[in-house]
Amino acid sequence: MDYLPLFFDLKQQRCLLVGGGGIALRKARLLVKAGARVRVVAPRVGAELASLVAGDGEVRLETYSAAQLQGCVLVIAATDDETLNAQVSRDARARNLPVNVVDSPRLCSFIMPAIVDRSPLVIGISSGGQAPVLARLLRARIESLVPAAYGRLAGLASRFRDRAKRLFTDVDRRRDFWEQHLQGPVAELVFSGRETEAETLLQKQLEAREQGLPETVRGEVYLVGGGPGDPDLLTFRALRLMQQADVVLYDRLVSEPVLDLVRRDAERIYVGKRRCDHALPQADINQLLVELAQRGQRVLRLKGGDPFIFGRGGEEIERLAEHHIPFQVVPGITAASGCAAYAGIPLTHRDCAQSVRFVTGHLQSDGINLNWPELVEPTQTLVFYMGLTGLTAICEALIAHGRSPATPAALVEKGTTPQQRVFSADIASLPAVVAANEVRAPTLLIIGEVVRLREKLNWFQAAGD
Ligand code: SAH
Repeated sequence: MDYLPLFFDLKQQRCLLVGGGGIALRKARLLVKAGARVRVVAPRVGAELASLVAGDGEVRLETYSAAQLQGCVLVIAATDDETLNAQVSRDARARNLPVNVVDSPRLCSFIMPAIVDRSPLVIGISSGGQAPVLARLLRARIESLVPAAYGRLAGLASRFRDRAKRLFTDVDRRRDFWEQHLQGPVAELVFSGRETEAETLLQKQLEAREQGLPETVRGEVYLVGGGPGDPDLLTFRALRLMQQADVVLYDRLVSEPVLDLVRRDAERIYVGKRRCDHALPQADINQLLVELAQRGQRVLRLKGGDPFIFGRGGEEIERLAEHHIPFQVVPGITAASGCAAYAGIPLTHRDCAQSVRFVTGHLQSDGINLNWPELVEPTQTLVFYMGLTGLTAICEALIAHGRSPATPAALVEKGTTPQQRVFSADIASLPAVVAANEVRAPTLLIIGEVVRLREKLNWFQAAGD
């Protein structure tokens, strides 16, 4: 992170704005919006700017000198004179005053973000000065995503803030209260323009708590599929629940960028799952989920891919059901879909694959126990999960049971991530190809005629390509 985003309280604070033209006017608007007393210094100042800062601010029709910095807490240089801008920057820095020079990141000690204003809710977006247009485009997208009434919802919350603060001395309980109401019926009422009703409803909720009516603090579990790696592949619901969980249990398959999207202050518990390295045995994970939820926590069980595909998601929620703990399951993009898409391999195709089969290639001590005769059918695509260690055994068994040695296959390493690599060859030679490269888990093995389509359909470029 090149810059730390901060929100500056400028109410009644004197700020120096050097420049009297159009750019200065835009900056002045922001400063005035934030309640600052703006001192504009320029030999000529546009009428609109002058009237904007009139009142609390002042206009000095003179050339800039360092004396103008006196009493200011923040400085903006918005002239078209580079030498002057540089001078303002030097003077401000010499006095440890935060300074911004329009369009010259080098001369700035702070930069201004693109702003989505739903006051009191404000979103600042910055590209660190490297791609301002991109920041502005992103801002336009967020503008269209965040309902205008979000500010009104925040206004409602702030009117009740002190009361809620008195009522809930415990920070977690207070946050629970707000989270429950800021996305429940109260919020919906505000969004549909029925603010008075929203207020009445919120009032009632608070009164009930004040009168000590029994609270229903119930924990719950969200079993969420985090997809194969690329965070863009998360579902909206996954993201929403990731942002509201109190604690997250995750394992090795969950990618860093996905984990980054979990609420910052949620407790994180790594529960492992590497081959042969189970940080926590499955039974303990199941038990932990139960215990955390029983303590009233909103527990996010975040899994790679889809929780119901080789994810043991079923076992985990079985225990929850036995203990009557509420849960929901959010599907994720399974490795087969993710890797196939990002490798340009359709899993089915009218001409060559009428079905697809997801198979575990997990190597047991006595080999891989699968019904091989069922797997050699040529119009069927096979997708092996956990198949790296057993790769040679899988290919040999398929050939031994009658699948053609010329059947094309692909091994996708770290699919959908910038590190994705794809190794393709026929099943007779793939093990040797893979052995010749340093391939690391997770990998997914795709076998069948559809792999040939990759030549034409490969579109995803990984970082190393
Ligand atoms: N629930 C997961 C699968 C868990 S089993 C899902 O639906 O995807 C773990 C196996 O998934 C790994 O051994 C590997 O075969 C596969 N896998 C998961 N993510 C992968 C990725 N990004 N690239 C390649 N294979 C992956």
